[in-house]
Amino acid sequence: MTAVLNADLHCHSSISDGLLAPAELVCRAHVNGVELLALTDHDELDGLAEARATADALGLRFVDGVEISVSWGNDQTLHIVGLGVDPSYAVLDVGLAELRSGRDARAMRMAAELDKVGIHGAYEGALRYVSNPALVGRSHFARYIVESGYAKDVKSVFDHWLAKDKPGYVSHHWTTLETALRWIREAGGVAVIAHPGRYRITKGELRRLLGEFRDLGGEGIEVQSGSHSEEETLTMARYAREFGFLASRGSDFHGPGESRIDLGKLPALPEGLRPVWEALL
Ligand code: AMP
Ligand code: MN
Ligand code: MN
Ligand code: MN
Repeated sequence: MTAVLNADLHCHSSISDGLLAPAELVCRAHVNGVELLALTDHDELDGLAEARATADALGLRFVDGVEISVSWGNDQTLHIVGLGVDPSYAVLDVGLAELRSGRDARAMRMAAELDKVGIHGAYEGALRYVSNPALVGRSHFARYIVESGYAKDVKSVFDHWLAKDKPGYVSHHWTTLETALRWIREAGGVAVIAHPGRYRITKGELRRLLGEFRDLGGEGIEVQSGSHSEEETLTMARYAREFGFLASRGSDFHGPGESRIDLGKLPALPEGLRPVWEALL
């Protein structure tokens, strides 16, 4: 299997916080030349059947995926992508349902904080952008806040209100790294640490995280990511070699007009890495 396969192993549909329905997302990937696609909605498997059926009809190879929200260390949120998971595995399905169940109360707390800084009606507003009521997230708030004229785009909403330490951010306990990795392993999947360049942690903490992730059975790292600068990509390629990780490539596409990198449009993986799809095909 060639390292230049156009694989896109990280993206979102409207089942979580993407803008396109699973079938629309898969069609767009196909048009863009993607040869191997994983749908990785946040904490949710419900879009996979529709995505797979569409991919099968188009002759596009498809991988069942998920992006799991994890709390690590001192209130650091991490995202772990599971690739090739069995969506019918009950422990994963039930665990994710429980994980999602905290989102509604979190959304109400976020709305209360936003209200204090003059952004009113954000809970009801965010829900207008949600197609899966179990999965209200910060992106839905961001879309409401843009539409209401408080900010010019989603990115500036995060910069002003929704990123950590901003007024509308509330801390939340997700699941543990150990539990997320156990769910993925038992569901037959490969665990990949998502966009490691995005975490606001020191170099030392990142190394500690990568070591812990590997010790708990984590096998892959996103090297090419829509969230990475060129420099971060090279840094993650070095970590992949040093820690012996499989390398992944994923746009983290959420929707046209919102995501910088479209499906299948990232550069190829740097040379000399073992692509994660070797473990999936
Ligand atoms: P949540 O799981 O509700 O905390 O939402 C996390 C999602 O918010 C991420 O998956 C992104 O889609 C989005 N997000 C987080 N930070 C940013 C940012 N700085 N700019 C744009 N979107 C962001
Ligand atoms: Mn998202
Ligand atoms: Mn993520
Ligand atoms: Mn993502």
